[in-house]
Amino acid sequence: MKRVAVVTGGTRGIGEAICEALKHAGYKVAATYQGNDEAAKKFTEKTGIPAFKFDVGDFDGCKEGLAHIVKALGPVDILVNNAGITRDAFLHKTTLKHWHEVVNTNLDSVFNMSRNVIEGMRERGFGRIISISSINGQAGQAGQTNYSAAKAGIIGFTKALAQESASKGITVNAIAPGYIDTEMVRAVSPEVLSKIVEKIPVKRLGKAEEIAAMVVFLASDQAAFATGATFTVNGGQYFA
Ligand code: NDP
Repeated sequence: MKRVAVVTGGTRGIGEAICEALKHAGYKVAATYQGNDEAAKKFTEKTGIPAFKFDVGDFDGCKEGLAHIVKALGPVDILVNNAGITRDAFLHKTTLKHWHEVVNTNLDSVFNMSRNVIEGMRERGFGRIISISSINGQAGQAGQTNYSAAKAGIIGFTKALAQESASKGITVNAIAPGYIDTEMVRAVSPEVLSKIVEKIPVKRLGKAEEIAAMVVFLASDQAAFATGATFTVNGGQYFA
């Protein structure tokens, strides 16, 4: 029987590449998204992967959304917590609203989704929870106190849940991408972006497919001994 994988924020960017790679590796895949119906429609037409709309920052929304996914595809074996946003500013200009939005979408979401699948994974004795952190959760980044805090929070969550889940056949890992060529990074000004690329030893942005390949490995049976870890994929920019 094909295993079922859910990828939050799976309709665009890194999430889209993860969905396609997991499908190619033989999983039944569901993507989730928040509001961009046009991108989601295009994604489903292109990949044949269904997209489910709900806010990962809303616990009850996740519960309901996951129930629809389980009804359509079956119980969730692999959860990829990928949805994320940025609201960048130095702390002295960061609003409480932007603090909460970033922490809610990037970190509360990891609780909201994981909490709603973990009991089933424990009962069935198998599970993979893979969360997308960031180089900026490891190294910190000026202008991103909210994002850096949320992404660092994912790393702590991963270590704790890995300990709780190891005896149940569930692995819990994080991936910390460096700068990847997606809309999120294209939103940065060209001057700032060229300065960023200068600091990357491989002298280019990463590709979404390079993050997806790590997800496929961590989802596999071969990765059963890897848990509680943060896998750095950043072109040599930062050695955690
Ligand atoms: P994109 O902005 O390209 O895509 C974000 C996806 O997340 C979209 O599908 C979006 O849905 C969805 N999403 C956003 N907010 C919510 C929400 N509240 N509920 C449900 N879905 C939501 O992001 P990237 O592909 O660039 O980034 C993916 C992940 O990788 C993020 O966690 C990001 O922080 C992390 N990352 C990215 C890096 C990069 O260089 N790009 C570097 C390091 C980490 P919709 O289309 O409806 O808006």
